[in-house]
Amino acid sequence: MTSLIEAAAVSAGFAGGTVLRDVDFHIDPGEIVTVVGPNGSGKSTLLRLLVGAIPPRGGRITRRPDLRVGYVPQRLSIDPTLPLTVSRFLDLPRPADRAEKLALMDRVGIRPLAAHPLTGLSGGQYQRALLARALLTRPNLLILDEATQGMDQRGSAEFYALIEALRAETGAAVLMVSHELHVVMSASDRVVCLNGHVCCEGTPEIVRSAPEYRALFGTGTHGA
Ligand code: ADP
Ligand code: MG
Repeated sequence: MTSLIEAAAVSAGFAGGTVLRDVDFHIDPGEIVTVVGPNGSGKSTLLRLLVGAIPPRGGRITRRPDLRVGYVPQRLSIDPTLPLTVSRFLDLPRPADRAEKLALMDRVGIRPLAAHPLTGLSGGQYQRALLARALLTRPNLLILDEATQGMDQRGSAEFYALIEALRAETGAAVLMVSHELHVVMSASDRVVCLNGHVCCEGTPEIVRSAPEYRALFGTGTHGA
């Protein structure tokens, strides 16, 4: 098996009904894959299935034995009353090597904020802190759910440039969910468009001109 994760004919749902049906998905080493789709189309559910946080209702998910995932979920519940500094946050759930923490904070551009309370960070700084923590496990697959939500276009572009640089340095594959297809396009090797099922996939150019994609998002470059 060369893919890091492979999903075959996977379905998922909750008490409210089926959310994903008959989804085939794979991600190979070193690839950057972006999942786009309307709100409620099952993007976060797909990521949670892939990391094993929820079981599929049907189908099969296979993970390569050497898979190491760094996962940043869409909503991370941290008690806001905890007096957590950025540096201490990287010690959760277990204490991390100090030199490694400093190197990673440096790499993602938040080293000057090491002693800063986590709750006082901007959206972009906070996502970089989450990213640094996810990188501590030396993942060969980084999974990011709406990491640039709330950032302005320049902030998003900088964040995706960092992701591409990290991919080049570490060789890690990246799976991300994004609403900003126009920004993420240039940073993605492959795009998967989801709407309860995979409605189209391919290179960013192929997806952008696919009728199924245009039916969902129109012909403009914005949205997704
Ligand atoms: P997206 O990330 O694309 O916005 P989600 O995967 O979060 O979509 O959700 C897809 C659908 O599944 C939504 O209708 C949502 O309400 C429902 N859903 C997601 N998680 C749960 C859950 N834990 N319990 C019940 N319904 C859920
Ligand atoms: Mg989501």
